[in-house]
Amino acid sequence: MLIILGPDHSKEQLDGVVARVSALGYKPHIIPGEHGTAIGVTGNAGPLDPRVFESLPGVKQAIPVTKSYKLAGRDFKSPDTAVEISPGLSVGAGRFIVMAGPCAVESREQTLRIARLVKKAGAHVLRGGAFKPRTSPYAFQGLGEEGLKILAEARAETGLPVVSEALDPASLELVYKYADVVQIGARNMQNFSLLREAGKLDKPVLLKRGLSATVDEWLQSAEYLLAEGNARIILCERGIRTFSSHTRNTLDLNAVPVAQKLSHLPVMVDPSHGTGVRDKVVPLARAAAAVGAHGVIIEVHDRPDEALCDGPQAMPPEVFAELVETLKKLGGVLGYTL
Ligand code: PEP
Ligand code: MN
Repeated sequence: MLIILGPDHSKEQLDGVVARVSALGYKPHIIPGEHGTAIGVTGNAGPLDPRVFESLPGVKQAIPVTKSYKLAGRDFKSPDTAVEISPGLSVGAGRFIVMAGPCAVESREQTLRIARLVKKAGAHVLRGGAFKPRTSPYAFQGLGEEGLKILAEARAETGLPVVSEALDPASLELVYKYADVVQIGARNMQNFSLLREAGKLDKPVLLKRGLSATVDEWLQSAEYLLAEGNARIILCERGIRTFSSHTRNTLDLNAVPVAQKLSHLPVMVDPSHGTGVRDKVVPLARAAAAVGAHGVIIEVHDRPDEALCDGPQAMPPEVFAELVETLKKLGGVLGYTL
């Protein structure tokens, strides 16, 4: 339900509606606008009767909202959301954001080397996994807190904010402590208890789309984060499972404009996991810019053959530097800066 108060409503009337919504056991979300104030209602399991609210003083109209992602959708908040990562750096504010770095933090030397290279090439954010969700329990699982400390050191040296993945409540606490953006990976997109915890944080969350998730399911996962109060959510399309086997996943670029139409949240693209094949990452990163994504997250490794995770999709730093130049030029046509 969206309750609309006219432009001349009083503070008492607004407070009265908020109190009524709370008294009914629902959660009010005040949305100030040019032509009055709206109050979004969440927490109701079934449809609400608009007359319950339209009879309250100051209320112009109460509009039922049937979508299950009220906060992530555009009914409650229509303008695009820009998510601030660090002072002066936001995703979804007319700038194309490039996040880059190794799949995994493997050592201090490896991460610092790659961090310097991606910084020099023009990346805005350093990526690196300290907690890795591996298909095999015998594969490299990440350096844990030690890896996060290395990322923090790389940030101190390069000035690049850091994005890193959390797998569970314990790693979430650590990632929150060291990183600037918390990544919830594809495999955890529907880990609802983890989403609830991440929703309580005052740091941005990069929410990857699940391996077989529909856009609706993805937005409902974003809703979990928003419902807990975290407004800084960045969506990230990273490829889905299809019958097509020539790449690791099928990067669903359709999902970018689809999600952007349904949601005000910024949408990034991960062409590294989306293709899983090094020489496909550049063309798909370009395509991500062309389709209107707000940025890309790219795996870069200077010694991909030695990489402990995702070597086959890692891009050498010099190819990454060229890609950034191309993305800059594309901005001239597409209307963004980088
Ligand atoms: C990653 O970013 O390294 C990662 C594991 O991503 P995803 O969750 O998209 O597979
Ligand atoms: Mn990876």
